[in-house]
Amino acid sequence: MPSYAYFHNEFVPLSEARIGIMTHCLHYGTALFEGIRGNWNSKQKQIYLFRLEEHYERLHNGCRVLKINLPYAIDELCRITVELIERCGFQEDIYIRPVAYKSSEDLGVRLHNLDDDFFIFAIPWGRYLDVDKAKCGVSSWRRPSDNVIPPQVKVTGIYVNNALAKTEAIENGFDEAIMLSTDGHISEGTGENIFLVIDGKLVTPPSYSNILMGITRNTVIELARNELGIETIERQIDRSELYIAGECFFTGTAAHITPIAEVDHRKIGDGEIGEITKRLQRIYFEVIQGNNPKYLDWCTPVYKK
Ligand code: PMP
Repeated sequence: MPSYAYFHNEFVPLSEARIGIMTHCLHYGTALFEGIRGNWNSKQKQIYLFRLEEHYERLHNGCRVLKINLPYAIDELCRITVELIERCGFQEDIYIRPVAYKSSEDLGVRLHNLDDDFFIFAIPWGRYLDVDKAKCGVSSWRRPSDNVIPPQVKVTGIYVNNALAKTEAIENGFDEAIMLSTDGHISEGTGENIFLVIDGKLVTPPSYSNILMGITRNTVIELARNELGIETIERQIDRSELYIAGECFFTGTAAHITPIAEVDHRKIGDGEIGEITKRLQRIYFEVIQGNNPKYLDWCTPVYKK
C-alpha cells in the first residue's frame, strides 16, 4: 500500500520525506511529537481518529515551551491529518506521528534563532505492550521534574529518560517500567499513565508527580465517572501502595488500557485482570471505535460515506 507523509507543506510519498544530518533536533532533542490513534471499525469500514483536537492542543502548548512557531491552527492540523489518512487508505488500526521540530541545519545548543518545521506520517500499529497483562518493575531511573525538562511536554529529548527505564525493565525480565518522581512517588510508565484501584475508587498520580497529562488518562477519568459512577482521586502515591492495590492498569494512546498483573515480583490482587479494569476496557474500546453515540464528539471519521 502506498504510504504518504505530510512534509514541507505538502503530501509526498513517505520514502521522499527526508531530513539532513545537520538538522538541529537530531543533535539536541529539540522536537515535539504527538501520538494519535486511528481505530478501525470493520463493520462501518471507517477509521476514527481519537481526540484529535486535544492532541494538537497539547502540541501547540509544547510549541510555546520550546519556542517553535507552528504556522497551522488546530483545525488545520486536524484537516491535514484526516486528508493524510484518507490518501493512505488504511483499513486497520493505525498510529499517527506529528512532529514539530527545530529544522535549521545549524549547530549550537539553544531554542532561539532557528527555523521550525512540521511533518506527519502514519503507520499500521496494533498492540503497543504486547501482553494481555503486564509484569512491571519500579525503575531505578526517576522521571525528570518540571525544572529539569518539563514532563508535560512531549519533547523528543526527554524520551531518553523513558528509553533508559524501558530497556532496563525489559533486560530485567519485565514488560514495562514504572518510574518514580524526583521526590520518590509513583509517576508513570515509559509511555503510559498509571491508575490504581483502592477501596473501589480510582487513584492516579497528579501533575506534580512529573507525569505527562495523558489524554487517555483524562478519557478514563471521564468514562469511570459517567459510565460506572466511580470517582478518581488525583494524589501522590507511595511505592508500597502499588503492592497492595486491588487492581492496577496503564493508560496511553498506544497502550490503550493495559492491566498490570505484577509489580516487583508481587502479584496485584490475584494477578488476573481486575473487575473494574475489565469493565473500563470494554467501555473504552467501544468508545474509541466509534460505537458509542454518546462519545462521537471524541471520534473524527476519516472516510466519507
Ligand atoms: N506518559 C508518557 C511518558 C507518554 O509518552 C504517554 C504517551 N503519549 C502517556 C503518558 C499517555 O498519554 P496519552 O494518553 O495522551 O497518550
